[in-house]
Amino acid sequence: TAEAGRDFIRDIVAADLASGKHKSIVTRFPPEPNGYLHLGHAKSICLNFGIAEDFGGRCHLRFDDTNPAKEEQEYIDAIQRDVRWLGFDWGEHLYYASDYFEQLYAWAQHLIRAGKAYVDDQTQEEIRLARGTLTEPGRNSPFRDRPVDENLDLFARMRAGEFPNGARVLRAKIDMAAGNINLRDPVLYRILHATHPRTGNAWNIYPSYDFAHGQSDSIEHITHSVCTLEFEDHRPLYDWFLDNLPVPSRPRQYEFARLNVTHTLLSKRVLTELVRGGHVAGWDDPRMPTLAGLQRRGVPAEALREFVKRIGVAKANSTVDVGMLDFAIREALNRSAPRRMAVLRPLKVVIENYPEGQSEELEAVNHPDDPSQGTRRIRFGREIYIEQDDFMENPPKKFFRLSPGREVRLRYAYFITCREVVKSPAGEVLELRCTYDPATRGGNAPDGRKVKATMHWVNAADAVPAEVRLYGHLFETEQPDAANFASELNPQSLQILSGCMVEPALARDDAGAAVQFERQGYFCRDRDSAPGRLVFNRTVGLRDTWAK
Ligand code: ATP
Ligand code: MG
Ligand code: MG
Repeated sequence: TAEAGRDFIRDIVAADLASGKHKSIVTRFPPEPNGYLHLGHAKSICLNFGIAEDFGGRCHLRFDDTNPAKEEQEYIDAIQRDVRWLGFDWGEHLYYASDYFEQLYAWAQHLIRAGKAYVDDQTQEEIRLARGTLTEPGRNSPFRDRPVDENLDLFARMRAGEFPNGARVLRAKIDMAAGNINLRDPVLYRILHATHPRTGNAWNIYPSYDFAHGQSDSIEHITHSVCTLEFEDHRPLYDWFLDNLPVPSRPRQYEFARLNVTHTLLSKRVLTELVRGGHVAGWDDPRMPTLAGLQRRGVPAEALREFVKRIGVAKANSTVDVGMLDFAIREALNRSAPRRMAVLRPLKVVIENYPEGQSEELEAVNHPDDPSQGTRRIRFGREIYIEQDDFMENPPKKFFRLSPGREVRLRYAYFITCREVVKSPAGEVLELRCTYDPATRGGNAPDGRKVKATMHWVNAADAVPAEVRLYGHLFETEQPDAANFASELNPQSLQILSGCMVEPALARDDAGAAVQFERQGYFCRDRDSAPGRLVFNRTVGLRDTWAK
């Protein structure tokens, strides 16, 4: 059946179950702990864990921790947090490629004994130069025919730490003339004197991605090893190891297109440089496409899962408009987020005919489409704040909000009419003097007269000051260049509004909850908030109006 969310990989899985090739399905999500997870990883997580869920199988979380030069415990912890936050659970199935180092070493010896691997003393540069090109075969290493015993001895001494970094490598002996360059005697082990977050200083050599990945899959009895397209050319090598080693099971690799998103770079290298270079405040800066950043910006995990479902799984690379992500976020938040009033750029309004020293309570609905969210009481008095943008002294034709002599509705309150504009000597608008019509309480005129605008407001006497952070795209260009990203950063990606005034409910609301500021967008309280200091992040605007 063509169920929603069905894709070519699920078709393969379904066929493998139907044919009896597999009795149950095992997938894995294999991050390298060298950075935080990003949107692209969300696609891979949803796919791998989603397949396991759909077909009653299981999905392993496996850290591909084979390069201690770049890996850290902080990343191992963050990745587990973020996968859980996204809504997935690996149960007991948490694994590390480093748990297999001893087995991988034994398998490397196995290849040496079979005459299928050798220690090469050439420098990295010499090896690179001898690799050839797409049109030109490579040249055999002068060390290619080293006797087995010498290879075993040198490999053991590499492990023991006798040689400096880069002095030697272990290579597979496959075919230096192979059309697929990955098969031209790939490197299996390099010398690296580095402390590994899990194995400490036990190892002085580390396996390559290619030598570790398929065998790790096999050890864990992974059935479908799903990865991104750039590994398609590695598949023959993945299979070569499985063919030439006494592995316990036979996984198969399938490739899908990686996720690219406009105005965004999904590369841990770039994201690491953004953090290290101080271009952002950290891995969880709300402008970052990391799961931690998205979470801090207030994006619900549900919206990410829905976004990933909609973009689907394809075999050809493409770029998704970031607007699709925003759309999914709005959709999720619209359903759930309670409505509140907040004035981001306050303009004081004095209601001259409202009795001094008095105020009253009005009723406001928390969610227009969800009566179960109930109502709240808000105060109204003689002085209020409205948005500066909602007033124009000399309005153009299509401006229907407040201007001198014009009547508008204050949400949940009254009609007011602007009578006078108070300005500074320099001509800056300082406050408005208005009158209200007491007969319009609740927002309707008994005589049926209409107004063209309804505006949000807050009551000056009990409004709470707040800082609001507005975020725009991190990159100005639609398709930023990863090689040149620093020059494409959007200098306006963060706008801090410090004099905002918000209704008191926002200081009482559950700190983690998303809210809609009426007419403004969806917001959440940032963790920089403290008693007496409210800080909000704009998660997304109400419409597609991101600052360019
Ligand atoms: P990066 O390019 O950001 O460094 P990576 O592929 O090196 O990413 P890994 O930690 O190795 O990062 O990725 C774990 C899994 O997530 C891999 O299976 C990888 O293919 C997948 N993945 C990474 N980036 C994307 C992406 N943009 N879209 C889909 N899947 C991705
Ligand atoms: Mg990788
Ligand atoms: Mg990488």
